[in-house]
Amino acid sequence: MTRTVIVGAGVAGLATAALLARQGHDVEVFERGDAIGGRAGSVERDGFRFDAGPSWYLMPRVFEHFFELLGTSSAEQLDLRLLDPAYSVFSEPRPDGSPTPPLTVPYGQERVEEAFESREPGARAALRAYLDSAGRAAKMAERYFLYNPYTRPGPLLRRDVLRALPELAGLLTTSLASFVARRFRDPVLRQVLGYPAVVLGASPASAPAIYHLMSALDLAEGVQYPMGGFWELVQRIAALAEAEGARITTGADVTAITTSPGAGRRRRVTGVDWRSADGTVRHAAADVVVSAADLHHTETRLLPPAARTHPERSWRRRVSGPGAVLVLLGVRGALPELAHHSLFFTRDWDANFDAIFGDAPRVPDPASIYVCKPSQTDPTVAPEGHENLFVLVPVPADPALGRGGPDGSGAPAIERAADAAIAQIARWAGIPDLEDRVVVRQSVGPADFAERYNSWSGGMLGPAHILRQSAMFRPQNQSRRVAGLYYAGATTAPGVGVPMCLISAELVSKRINSDHSSGPTSPQPRSTR
Ligand SMILES: Cc1cc2nc3c(=O)[nH]c(=O)nc-3n(C[C@H](O)[C@H](O)[C@H](O)COP(=O)(O)OP(=O)(O)OC[C@H]3O[C@@H](n4cnc5c(N)ncnc54)[C@H](O)[C@@H]3O)c2cc1C
Repeated sequence: MTRTVIVGAGVAGLATAALLARQGHDVEVFERGDAIGGRAGSVERDGFRFDAGPSWYLMPRVFEHFFELLGTSSAEQLDLRLLDPAYSVFSEPRPDGSPTPPLTVPYGQERVEEAFESREPGARAALRAYLDSAGRAAKMAERYFLYNPYTRPGPLLRRDVLRALPELAGLLTTSLASFVARRFRDPVLRQVLGYPAVVLGASPASAPAIYHLMSALDLAEGVQYPMGGFWELVQRIAALAEAEGARITTGADVTAITTSPGAGRRRRVTGVDWRSADGTVRHAAADVVVSAADLHHTETRLLPPAARTHPERSWRRRVSGPGAVLVLLGVRGALPELAHHSLFFTRDWDANFDAIFGDAPRVPDPASIYVCKPSQTDPTVAPEGHENLFVLVPVPADPALGRGGPDGSGAPAIERAADAAIAQIARWAGIPDLEDRVVVRQSVGPADFAERYNSWSGGMLGPAHILRQSAMFRPQNQSRRVAGLYYAGATTAPGVGVPMCLISAELVSKRINSDHSSGPTSPQPRSTR
């Protein structure tokens, strides 16, 4: 039996554990934190339960396919609820200080077209054409790009891919911002269509237009929510991994990936050294190691210099996605002003992106922020008569901004950003007493990301999805220097987000099994070992 060690029990590590254990590997997962989930973990305080990271359940087909590979289905594993409205978009208040009515993005393409038309005459037809194109690009991506290990050119030399090349080339060489600007004039509609870049850790001006495919997900297919939040999803994947025989050890900090001596490709992985909570260092022998920890950490901290495919100097050329200040709030009373998902976009969006990604990085003020109110849909996340708010303020990926903490005890820059976000929600959404109604407050800063998850530069997502860090240009899922060493997770291919992490697990499995196909693999029966 192949002895396989997985570093990290985030979504990607757990998903890889489940797939490989089902294929007959003897899998052991080591997680340095005292709980599983990584960035998709959970925080509990005073009767509130907060998802620590993801909250948008997009690309449902990817989840469905992943569960199928494990002999189950989304319906068996999750209680999914369709959100209607999908989300609301708040803009800056009017000059007299009164709130601007938000743009409500409903469920259902026809209703979304209607909402667009009401803001900009002609936008209905423009959106229909936009979403047709997005749908085509999304299908193409699923069939040929996202699940492609890029180990053979053959799958990309197919007639339908070649026929689409001129359109694809246009979508790769145009920025999302200009692609959108050519089709829509209304600034808020432009922001709605540019937002997918932000979800991918980039700005609309730096992300290629191919990512307009993401709009087919939220605007055409709709947005769902798994009851119990992403924490429920994490537990379901962990339970499936354990049911397949994987063992998960928390409080286990991997300090080195060990290899045989020998140069070049003759170097083979031999296992990992790991330190338990009591400080004892042990060795776990393995034939295969999958690091699902942040790639920068894996490459520059866990491997000796000669074994690195991506040494420190290669990271100087890479662009990190943003960092984040997160503010988890328990609020007394109802907040009908906010939808399950609410976006707050500043008028001068470019200034926001410049603050985060520009030459003089700083916390944007005012910032464009995201607010999730899962208690809209899920009564288990807040005590009766209260709301649960998760506030995300994108900031530069810079651990020097500091850590967060409970009840305003975080670093000054973090708490200032948190105070500003609370005041902004209050003003823009018309909830003047919001601050007084806060009964639980917990902040998180870039230094927390760096310390907890060993994240590169304290970034919240990983390398940004600009063209040269996307698809075949993103660090792939296998070491070029150490045989038997593989990489999964948001910092590798295909990229950022929970669905991408599930696909990265499948890409690792494909590489181990020498499967060079470009699309999703067919479900196989469980290995009989
Ligand atoms: C604030 C926020 C909001 C997001 N929103 C969404 C969303 O709405 N929808 C969506 O799909 N995605 C979203 N994402 C992205 C998504 O959450 C991530 O892409 C995904 O969870 C990353 O999972 P991962 O397994 O790659 O990495 P991680 O979650 O970072 O897991 C890596 C694990 O490895 C562990 N580890 C690191 N080093 C070691 C070591 N040496 N030894 C042992 N263990 C180690 C870490 O502790 C961690 O648990 C969001 C992310 C954040 C932060």
